[in-house]
Formats: sequence, C-alpha cells, structure tokens
Amino acid sequence: MPTQLQLRTAGGLAYTLERKRVKNLNLRVRPDGSVWVSAPSRASVASVDAFVASRADWVRRQQASLRAVAAAEAAEPLPSREAALALFEEVSAKFFPLFAARLGGRPPEIKVRQMSSRWGVCCPAKRRITLALRLAAKPRPLIEYVVLHEYCHFVHPDHQAGFWGLVESIMPDAKVRRRALRGG
Ligand SMILES: [Zn+2]
Repeated sequence: MPTQLQLRTAGGLAYTLERKRVKNLNLRVRPDGSVWVSAPSRASVASVDAFVASRADWVRRQQASLRAVAAAEAAEPLPSREAALALFEEVSAKFFPLFAARLGGRPPEIKVRQMSSRWGVCCPAKRRITLALRLAAKPRPLIEYVVLHEYCHFVHPDHQAGFWGLVESIMPDAKVRRRALRGG
C-alpha cells in the first residue's frame, strides 16, 4: 500500500497525516519540531484532527523544549574557570612588563567571574583585574584588548583622552578590536 501523506492543521498546529496499516492513532513530534501523525485508513480526518487538538498543549511543550535544547547547543560553550584563569594570566603576563613600574613590580591579581554586562573590571586600589568567564571563549586578539584596557586603568581610572592615548600607543588597532567585541 503506498503511503499517503496529507498536510493538515488542528488546534492551531500544522501536522502531517500519514495513512498506514496501524491499529491506533500515533502522534510524534520529530526532532525538527514538526508533528507527524499516523492513522489507520478508516479513521475520519475529523477524528484525527480532534485527536491532534486534544494533544496541542503537550505538543507545544515538546516543541519548546526542543527549541531550548537547540539554542543551548548553538550557544558558545564556556571554558572552565581554571582554563579561563590560565589563559588570562598568560595574556596578563604579556602586558605586565609595560606596567611593572606603576604596579611596584608586582603583577596584579587576576580574577574570573561570571559577568553578563561587562568584559572586565579594574580595581586599582586592590591591584586587581576581574575578567568575565565568557571572555575566555572570544578570539585571542579580543582577550588581549580587554586585558590591556583594564591594565591602562591602573594609570588612568577614567575613559578620557589620556586613557585612550595610552591604550592605542600599545595597541594601535585597539578600537577595531573593541568594535569586534561589541559586535560579538
Ligand atoms: Zn574601562
């Protein structure tokens, strides 16, 4: 018996109706979120529609959970805190010699935190730079820009011309990297 497919809508849900040699109505939400119903050939379309409509809420919950899983998988995976700290310490060591005199010869403390609104924070009074965990998932040139940005706050606490002059004297393409960071 050739498979007969029909596209229908019931309870606000689009679904594909497949007629086959089955005893009962069978509803599945496929991995892509589409709804597939197999039904015996003798079942009326009205009864199949009613069956789908009665399960509409359950189907929508399935579809929502499939979307949530897909979104989580698409998001950038975050590295571990330890891996992020090791990476940030390495980048910090690269810039430290330029600021060693200002910092009394002692490297700043580097901390990693989950921050959603900022990439980094400098606390000159505590000689500490705090960096966002999600920064570790960014390309290295962007990590270098943020670390240098925070180092420059040991010299200029504000974002005035002197601050940007210092940043760009060390990293001439700092503004390009800054834009890339904001875009991503
Ligand atoms: Zn700043």
